[in-house]
Amino acid sequence: MHFDVTTMVLLLAGTCAIAAGALLAEWCKGREKALAWWSSAFLAIAVGSTLTPLRQFGLDVLAIGISNILMAGGYGALFAGVAVFTGRSRLIAWWPGGSIAWVAFWIFAPQFDDMSLRVAFLSLIVAAYSLAAAVLFLLTARPSPVVRTLGWLFALRAVLFTLRAVLAGVDGAVLDIRMMTGFAYTSVMFEGVLASVLIGYLLLSAGRERRENSLKRLAETDYLTGIDNRRAFSIKSRMTLTLGAGRPNREHALLVLDLDDFKRLNDDHGHSFGDEVLRLFAAVVSRHLRENDLFGRLGGEEFAILLPEKTHNQAAAVANVIRRDFARAAETVDGRAVGATVSIGVASTGHGDSLEALLALADAALYRAKAGGRNKVVTADPAAEQADPFSLFSQPAR
Ligand code: GH3
Ligand code: MG
Ligand code: MG
Repeated sequence: MHFDVTTMVLLLAGTCAIAAGALLAEWCKGREKALAWWSSAFLAIAVGSTLTPLRQFGLDVLAIGISNILMAGGYGALFAGVAVFTGRSRLIAWWPGGSIAWVAFWIFAPQFDDMSLRVAFLSLIVAAYSLAAAVLFLLTARPSPVVRTLGWLFALRAVLFTLRAVLAGVDGAVLDIRMMTGFAYTSVMFEGVLASVLIGYLLLSAGRERRENSLKRLAETDYLTGIDNRRAFSIKSRMTLTLGAGRPNREHALLVLDLDDFKRLNDDHGHSFGDEVLRLFAAVVSRHLRENDLFGRLGGEEFAILLPEKTHNQAAAVANVIRRDFARAAETVDGRAVGATVSIGVASTGHGDSLEALLALADAALYRAKAGGRNKVVTADPAAEQADPFSLFSQPAR
């Protein structure tokens, strides 16, 4: 393969500049900091690589010194973006490390004139940043396919650049310093063009994926309590119930929970104090739920919980634990005697499989709990009520 150096350099600078522009445009939409780092990184690499052909004219300070400061800084910024993206912002401090090391090598190392050593030195800087980025991406908890691919791509780059450092001294690596021939130049430019397109595109996808996820979470979340809103709860519950329909032996339970005399609580203590009690309630409930349980705010002071693979009696027991724990936690709030309580209706898939049917049954049970004096758990299954007396009109905790 024959490479025209100037063409390759311009191609590399062009792909990097396009990646920088695309990442900047994506940053403008959501202000995700990682995207700003990545955009700057590609810009630095684009400018740095544009300077390299100047060595044909003997402008070594620009073509070697400054160019490689920008390259090392660019790879440092790429790594800093990964650190921000993966929630390890402390590591940003390392971004200028490569450039500083390069400047120190330039000023102090007597071997600076040795072309092969320069290539090896810079390759090791790139390899180190790539390896660190790969580790951060691959250590991410539950990485998306895009993030996992990026992790392996950076790992591959770390291997390639280490190989380049090792091979920098062999025959054919550097044939002509001025004209930049030899595989140490051509291979890195060829790889650079491919990598800037692929990595640029994947980083853009990762940033977009993150923005879409946070919008989705925003649309699914109740602003006051931070739990699922009615829409999200309904969608997720329907999905769970549909999956369960194929496995008739699996029973799922639904609780509808309504805070007692909440209008009076608001009247006595004010609306914002009522909000605080709602947040307290959500926090109390959350400590009794398993990972797959669904918890949503249906509206106002009414909530629902879907307990997958819990029997009617087990669900009634959970409801009672929640009822008692909330009565205890809300006895006094912020030093005020509040005595807030909750009434809970329980239904299970033994009675009807659709979410609407379960909600109607649990609602009817809840109505009976209210009529029976509040601060109670009532189940929609009379047989279960008899088998587990605790679940029927349980006594107030206080
Ligand atoms: P019951 O025991 O029968 O459920 O009586 P209740 O007073 O709780 O029921 P009602 O439906 O009469 O009143 C519900 C109250 O909840 C009225 C409304 O002001 C209050 N509420 C609804 N949403 C919010 C909210 O987001 N914040 C606060 N602070 N109060 C709310
Ligand atoms: Mg109420
Ligand atoms: Mg209500």
